[in-house]
Amino acid sequence: MTTFSLDPGPDQTAVRDWLHGFAADVIRPAAAEWDEREETPWPIIQEAAKLGIYSLDFYAQQFFDPSGVGIPIAMEELFWGDAGIGLAITGTTLAAVAVLANGTDEQIGTWAPQMFGTPEDVKVAAFCSSEPDAGSDVSALRTRAVYDQAKDEWVLNGTKTWATNGGIAHVHVVVATVDPELGSRGQASFVVPPGTKGLSQGQKFKKHGIRASHTAEVVLDGVRVPGHCLLGGKEKLDARLARAREGTKGGGKNAAMATFEASRPAVGAQAIGIARAAYEVALDYAGTRVQFGRPIIENQGVAFQLADMRTRIDAARLLVWRASWMAVNNKPFTSAEGSMSKLYAGETARFVTAQAMQILGGNGFTREYPVERMHRDSAIYTVFEGTSEIQRLVIARAISGAPIR
Ligand SMILES: Cc1cc2nc3c(=O)[nH]c(=O)nc-3n(C[C@H](O)[C@H](O)[C@H](O)COP(=O)(O)OP(=O)(O)OC[C@H]3O[C@@H](n4cnc5c(N)ncnc54)[C@H](O)[C@@H]3O)c2cc1C
Repeated sequence: MTTFSLDPGPDQTAVRDWLHGFAADVIRPAAAEWDEREETPWPIIQEAAKLGIYSLDFYAQQFFDPSGVGIPIAMEELFWGDAGIGLAITGTTLAAVAVLANGTDEQIGTWAPQMFGTPEDVKVAAFCSSEPDAGSDVSALRTRAVYDQAKDEWVLNGTKTWATNGGIAHVHVVVATVDPELGSRGQASFVVPPGTKGLSQGQKFKKHGIRASHTAEVVLDGVRVPGHCLLGGKEKLDARLARAREGTKGGGKNAAMATFEASRPAVGAQAIGIARAAYEVALDYAGTRVQFGRPIIENQGVAFQLADMRTRIDAARLLVWRASWMAVNNKPFTSAEGSMSKLYAGETARFVTAQAMQILGGNGFTREYPVERMHRDSAIYTVFEGTSEIQRLVIARAISGAPIR
């Protein structure tokens, strides 16, 4: 276990500066274009791959960095550049985390590298949990996984929605129900290998923000995957289902929830990147925009807004770093610290980007300045990976032990 420190050390400082350079020189200048195009920015992902920023090795190194805050530092810098492109570059990690959280060592070794491809032939991956009738209520998933013992294959049928990289991914990770009577305790995650028949992209969504990130439905029509594609293996699943049927403790860990728990501090860090970017634009603008014969920052009304913005950003970062350090050091989130970090960082991004637009006045409302885009991008951070209401529910249950609904 490493001691928590607010100084991540020379290695992480160097990584932060390196990523900041990429975000400033490559991501930020391309942000408006890809936002308008609403397409995956493949050339930028490829450039990130060539530099080693888009690779399993890089994320593994950041995750296992002894500071415990390698991932939040990386996320904050990339999303400071732009959230849509940032998500196009890092969306694969959600699927990778699903394999890391639920898979065997062999499965991790097989699938995680394939999700990223190579710098010459980059690939992306998708994590498909949400469905039209199962968003916040993960226990309501209808996608079925049925085991065909004769062929040692799983057959998947259902429709997934809102999948980041859905349909364009090389590898899809799909959460499905094996025993619907058990609700979320009867679910498991499956890898759908590249080129598997029966998986297709449904509607691609036109979105309010993070528009450079591809979001689509994924249709699973009689998709057959080999037995070894069940993450964690059948023996473990059977034992877990048996415990759940008996109502024994320990059968409750759910595949989708395990993935979301592990990824919440990282998502919070993305929101902080957006908030910091908007705050910097607003601070700069307030120092140079003159009204009534003085820079607008000399009005307390404006300066206090900036003070609040900065205070919330720093507070959010502290929550995210604490949760990330706890996760890396296997400290359980007894008070839902992961949810706290995501909740506060997401709400901070909403607050700060709205304030930034206000400080820019009319300019803030146009696409000549980036804060309008940042404000649109921030909106997803109180929705995906558990809405703010669901984070509050998780925190309230954790701190009270009460069955709050
Ligand atoms: C751009 C984008 C990318 C996404 N990427 C992925 C992805 O890669 N993989 C994936 O699986 N999913 C993904 N999602 C899905 C996302 O996680 C869900 O949208 C989210 O969990 C909310 O589900 P929902 O949209 O069905 O809203 P609902 O669950 O229908 O919620 C609607 C409203 O009701 C509130 N609400 C619901 N239940 C309660 C309650 N018990 N108490 C209080 N309030 C409640 C919610 O907070 C919300 O305000 C993505 C979504 C978007 C928009």
